[in-house]
Amino acid sequence: MKKILMVASEAEPFAKVGGLGEAVSALSTELLRQGCDVRIILPRYYSVDLVRENLKKYPSPLGVPLGTHEEWTGVYEGRLPGCAVPVYFLEHEGYYGRDGIYGPRGGEGFADNVARFALLCRGAFQLCRMIGWIPDIIHSHDWPAALCNVYLKTLENHTEFSKTAAVFTLHNAGYQGVYHKDDMNAIGLSWEHFYSSGFEFYNKINLLKAGIKNADMLTTVSPGYAREILTPEKGNGMDGLLRERGKCFSGILNGIDYSLWDPSQDPFLPYHFSEKTLDEKEKLKNRLRSEVSLPANQDAPLIGMIGRIVEQKGYGVLLSYSRGDLAAICRELGVQIIILGTGDAAYEQELARLAWKLPNLKVILQFNTQLAHLIEAGCDFFLMPSIFEPCGLNQLYSLRYGAIPIVSNTGGLADTVEDYNEQTGKGTGIIIDTVTAENIYNAIKRATDLFRNNKTAIRTLREQGMKKRFSWKKSAGEYLAAYEKAIALRDKQTPEE
Ligand code: ADP
Repeated sequence: MKKILMVASEAEPFAKVGGLGEAVSALSTELLRQGCDVRIILPRYYSVDLVRENLKKYPSPLGVPLGTHEEWTGVYEGRLPGCAVPVYFLEHEGYYGRDGIYGPRGGEGFADNVARFALLCRGAFQLCRMIGWIPDIIHSHDWPAALCNVYLKTLENHTEFSKTAAVFTLHNAGYQGVYHKDDMNAIGLSWEHFYSSGFEFYNKINLLKAGIKNADMLTTVSPGYAREILTPEKGNGMDGLLRERGKCFSGILNGIDYSLWDPSQDPFLPYHFSEKTLDEKEKLKNRLRSEVSLPANQDAPLIGMIGRIVEQKGYGVLLSYSRGDLAAICRELGVQIIILGTGDAAYEQELARLAWKLPNLKVILQFNTQLAHLIEAGCDFFLMPSIFEPCGLNQLYSLRYGAIPIVSNTGGLADTVEDYNEQTGKGTGIIIDTVTAENIYNAIKRATDLFRNNKTAIRTLREQGMKKRFSWKKSAGEYLAAYEKAIALRDKQTPEE
């Protein structure tokens, strides 16, 4: 039985900011189902409620050496809900006893993030020692867990982890963990590692880069994004290093959990529907409208957006004061738009200002899972004009819930949504070719015209989308193959490497 330790900064339901938290938990659940001994380690953030989550405290604290000193952490253990995957939490009042996972809401990251996540990564090895469980694979996710790959090839290269292989998944190469080089002290490695372990990036520390350099196998969350980040235009400075890693790098599409996202029995919804009872969606649309105080207007298609309110998701373009921007879409196309999300303070303020002026735009600046489900179920269309999108989950929920996705032609969006072809009737959504305000406007105009003039096309699009499945079963199989390759590569390394 393969032993896998997942190291991450998020795992649903304990800590989730975006798709990363969902992927870590769902992949772990599926790997358990496929016979692996899989466990997760997370920081015990302030928001993780010990009583509600029924976490058990270990009697003795865990010492974690970091450079010349040692930090002491408490250890808690719980389970992913509904399955037997153990989740370990490291508790440290100084580093994790505050609001926020990466930083305060709407602000920059915490100044001591290198130390916070170095503690998680070194703590992962110490925890394994404490519980007497040495994994075959350490699967780390994104820059906060990248140091695991480095420690495995340096401090832990000649220890009981000498056969443990490192698999590293990039959920978003746009976030790299770039910090001042003085933070090498917090990492607990000597200065020579600044260069030799691959941290150096324009004279700063780049955690993602060091993670990429030291992992045995690298994956990202869709084949399309894997191709894109190999190019200088979209590689965020990592393309050269990724190209060097060659066959050790591949894209594995995220799945979604269809037991949590099923419109025929979703506990968050007051009414249910399937592709055979699509008319019931109308009731949900009415409920959604009344919940966000939008007037009933049969002629106005309802468009939803859910997610982080940041540049990547297209907000810079939507709020650009140029022809076809969000204000023009709301004023000229006779649509109703609901935006649910949190993110950059400047965009949040601008959206709130627009919503105050435009009666057909509602902006809810919250993280609200229940409302997210209702938006997917009640909307006619779902808009995701991302500049880049490693995988994207909301377009997958939209497909399942008959909210026709209008998405940009990038990464995981292009891999999962097929543009509607009016001649053949094939397709599941509407594709925006390059993200400009005008192109978004035109895509919404196309959707609106179909909505008003071609009900059959809308029904066909919904039905075709609802039948699509992107399951974790297949993706977990691909991860298992990556684990095998990583183990084989690790076996070939001489101890000096
Ligand atoms: P990313 O990981 O880039 O943030 P994804 O589309 O991959 O984007 O995943 C985002 C996930 O987080 C989705 O499941 C989405 O529904 C959820 N989410 C994001 N913001 C909110 C919010 N404000 N309220 C509820 N759910 C949210």
